[in-house]
Amino acid sequence: MADFTYALDTDGVAVITWDVPNKSMNVMSLEGFALLDSFIDKALADEACKGVVITSGKKDFAGGMDLNVIAQMRAGGAQAIFDGVMQMHAVLRKIERAGMDPKTLKGGKPIATVLPGTALGIGLELPLSTHRIFAADNPKAKIGLPEIMVGIFPGAGGTTRLARKMGAMVAAPFLLEGKLSDPKKARAAGIIDEVAEDPLAAAKEWVLNAKDADLVKPWDAKGYKMPGGAPYHPAGFMTFVGASAMVHGKTMGVYPAAKALLSAVYEGALVPFDQALRIEARWFTSVLMNPSSTAMIRSLFINKEALEKGANRPKVADQTVKKVGILGAGMMGAGIAYVSAKVGIEVVLIDAAQEAADRGKAYSTGLMDKAISRKKATEEQKEALLAKITATTDYAALAGCDLIVEAVFEDPTVKAGVTAQAEAVIPADAVFATNTSTLPISMLARASSRPEQFIGIHFFSPVDKMLLVEIIKGAQTGDVAVAKALDFVRQIKKTPIVVNDARFFYANRCIIPYLNEGIRMVAEGVSPTLIENAAKLVGMPLGPLQLVDETSIDLGVKIAKATRAAMGDAYPDGAVDEVVFWMAEQNRLGRKNKAGFYTYDEAGKRGDFWDGIAAKYPEAAEQPDLAEVQHRLLMAQVLEAVRAFEQGVLEDIREGDVGAILGWGFAPWSGGPFAWLDILGAARAAEICDDLTARFGARFETPALLRDIAAKGDGFYARFGGGQAAKAA
Ligand code: NAD
Repeated sequence: MADFTYALDTDGVAVITWDVPNKSMNVMSLEGFALLDSFIDKALADEACKGVVITSGKKDFAGGMDLNVIAQMRAGGAQAIFDGVMQMHAVLRKIERAGMDPKTLKGGKPIATVLPGTALGIGLELPLSTHRIFAADNPKAKIGLPEIMVGIFPGAGGTTRLARKMGAMVAAPFLLEGKLSDPKKARAAGIIDEVAEDPLAAAKEWVLNAKDADLVKPWDAKGYKMPGGAPYHPAGFMTFVGASAMVHGKTMGVYPAAKALLSAVYEGALVPFDQALRIEARWFTSVLMNPSSTAMIRSLFINKEALEKGANRPKVADQTVKKVGILGAGMMGAGIAYVSAKVGIEVVLIDAAQEAADRGKAYSTGLMDKAISRKKATEEQKEALLAKITATTDYAALAGCDLIVEAVFEDPTVKAGVTAQAEAVIPADAVFATNTSTLPISMLARASSRPEQFIGIHFFSPVDKMLLVEIIKGAQTGDVAVAKALDFVRQIKKTPIVVNDARFFYANRCIIPYLNEGIRMVAEGVSPTLIENAAKLVGMPLGPLQLVDETSIDLGVKIAKATRAAMGDAYPDGAVDEVVFWMAEQNRLGRKNKAGFYTYDEAGKRGDFWDGIAAKYPEAAEQPDLAEVQHRLLMAQVLEAVRAFEQGVLEDIREGDVGAILGWGFAPWSGGPFAWLDILGAARAAEICDDLTARFGARFETPALLRDIAAKGDGFYARFGGGQAAKAA
């Protein structure tokens, strides 16, 4: 069986069907592309063939390029990538010109595409090279070019064709943000041409009736002008200046793909179409050669998907959750109830008072009302979701729950109480999970009569938006509980990482030192502007001081006090506490009371830095280099990740990288902390750490593992990329 098949029907229409064997979704391979090319040749040469329809044998058209192809191309270096891409351009251009006379633009054979469902990446770039695109009326289908999301851009002509078809301004959200549309929206936007009941029949009919002029793309016709204006047109000039500023503002210059894409569009718009394709290929090559794209594809696509599919799931029977009991209907409990009910899981939402339980359920009402007002959900869906949630104070309602998620106050005594109450009612084989953010799982498990069925499932706030869930194994947690937690996370369509029990688990362990380093610098007299901008210029979504404002100063005080109590004399963060405690005394608790490191207006909009900071911690006359501030802020997080891995808290660097990006937004361009160290090179990283240690102290000490990797000229992914644990190595 081959990826494409060819059949000439009695009307003279050649139907080329894409149906990759043993895959639920078509992806393009080099072999597949060569076969498609040969079928196009065959159709163009066959006198009995009047035209071509390219369709799919699956419910969708295609998911994109086989990522192994990209890896293969990369292995050959820049020239191999460029040659490979140019070959692809040649085939798609052959489809576009379809044998027509280049002078008269007559005599070509019409070629149409039929999209039964989703068409992404090359799955849309190929159709864009054909003469007409027909889609089935399938509201679940997603059509678009999402390459930018994994650090590359559409490199098989999609960038050049879409920009020339729609104009740079209109194409911007589809190219620069990877916006996806259902077929009707894609047609309204002008990406595809028709939505039909029977798209195959419609396409065949069109092919049999198409005129010469129907086959000529606007850019091949005489007098073509780019919609919205080319760069040298006054309107086009405005567009490109604006787009350039917007891209730089959003990416802070750290995402090579966005800038390369814009360059390809801009430079391409100044030259004829075929030359524009060459320019696109050059920029595409430069992006593929950039280590950021390798790292982003690996973390945000390959490894994210592997974790979602259970790469680290113990081999035990299916643990799909049918009925979940949620204890505590506060901010977290209400969110967990919503995401569970949304996927059809029956939910019992318990709180100490009925009003509190009802308020928790009302959170789902609010989210659904918002979704309805945005036309993202229907009244029926809202009713169905709400019908899944029973809000009550009665623990007896937990009977039959196969999973409990506890989200009551962060207090061991309260948690122990509800654990015993729930375990008195739930089946003997039910799994009990706690959503604690700071308390050790093994300690909380002492309140359980079945500690092997006790586990941590740590959600991030807001639950409905945050994609990561951190699963924490206590000392006695068994395989079934881990599998249950992973199956639950899969059901609610989030990404899991599984870690061992240690202070702050993984995500908070790494993010707290980032906040602390920022605060420490304030106390040293480093300009807050420098601190915040250094973070953003290295790809952190929020500067540390803004993040402290978001999470609140009093939470910082609470964590500091608890950590100090637990660590005693070894506690290293006195300098940080001084600032945090002082902020709390000044009642500057962060965004929630509209007063923190930043000022906020009545509506809560963030303004400048609060001038009280400069008064208390005057800026030093001599400010550090941008790079030094960046190294401090990044190393504070990264070294914690390495230590977590060294100590076996983290068992898999893939989880460390995916978890860092999805959990706290760690510089996505880098692919995560371990990928960043590989990009930097372990030797250089160790050198930076040695320098920072000499000047700022032991918190920057080079971990032994990093030193070893540096000494051997190795890399984290070279050594542990298959999911090997550090301890076993
Ligand atoms: P919250 O104060 O908003 O909600 C706690 C709820 O538990 C309240 O509605 C309270 O009435 C209820 N409750 C207290 N005692 C109870 C009892 N005995 N029986 C039934 N219900 C009881 O708190 P939250 O922010 O939702 O946090 C809940 C848990 O989730 C904590 O362990 C917290 O550490 C953890 N967590 C919080 C966040 C966050 O960002 N807020 C993130 C991750 C984890």
